[in-house]
This record gives sequence, structure tokens and C-alpha cells, in this order.
Amino acid sequence: MKKKDLETIKKQLIDEKTRIIRHLEELAGSSTEEMQFNSGDPADIASLEISQSGLQKIGKREKLLLKKIDLALQKMEEGTYGECEQCGEEIAIGRLMARPVAQLCIDCKTEQENSERKFNEDNGDYEDSEFDIVGEEEE
Ligand SMILES: [Zn+2]
Repeated sequence: MKKKDLETIKKQLIDEKTRIIRHLEELAGSSTEEMQFNSGDPADIASLEISQSGLQKIGKREKLLLKKIDLALQKMEEGTYGECEQCGEEIAIGRLMARPVAQLCIDCKTEQENSERKFNEDNGDYEDSEFDIVGEEEE
């Protein structure tokens, strides 16, 4: 992956994490000492860990998204970002641009969705396991 592309995606991830943190701050209110988040430095935001009590305030969906963002940022540090978790192939750049938190290539994702849909239909509870950060599905 080109360094420039990686930087672009990293910025998207940090922007999204910042948005979640801001939301959490709103929920927590100014009286909560644990959420003193004043830094605008992207590096600080990337490594910022949100406390358990803070996590309890945000919704399940945001919590999951946050986890994925942190995982993606961690992979960037390790140099493994963009590899499919399942088959190890590189995930297409267009897919990563649209979904920076994608952990699977489109082939593995399609396969997973098919089996998940089947599983969840059985349980009567279908929930998308991957969220769009930017824009709509373009695949
Ligand atoms: Zn794959």
C-alpha cells in the first residue's frame, strides 16, 4: 500500500475516533473528570484509551466501531494493515478507503455475510457486523 493512501486512511480513522470521543464527552458532561480530552494532536487521539466506565456510556454500535478503529490503528503500527484476516491477501484499496475498518477482503466478507445472514435469520436477529465510516457501499 502506498504511504500516502495509508496516511489518508489513518486520518479517516482518527477523525472517526475523535467523533466518538466528542460524543462520549457530551454524554459524560463536563463534571466527569475521566473525560478530560483537550488534545487536538492526532497521535494522542490514536493512542487514547477510553475507560471502561466511559465505554459503558456509548452505545453498542459505537463501542464496536471504536474497537475496530483501534485495531486498525494498531495494525498500521505493526505494518499489517490492509491484509485480510482470513486469507491474508491484500484488501483492495478502494474497499479500505470506503471502509477503513474492513478486516476482510471482499471475497471473504461476502462469504462471511452469507453465513452470518443465514445464522441470524435462524435467530431472527440480523445486524450488520461492519460499519461504513465514509459514504455508502460502492462495491
Ligand atoms: Zn480474504
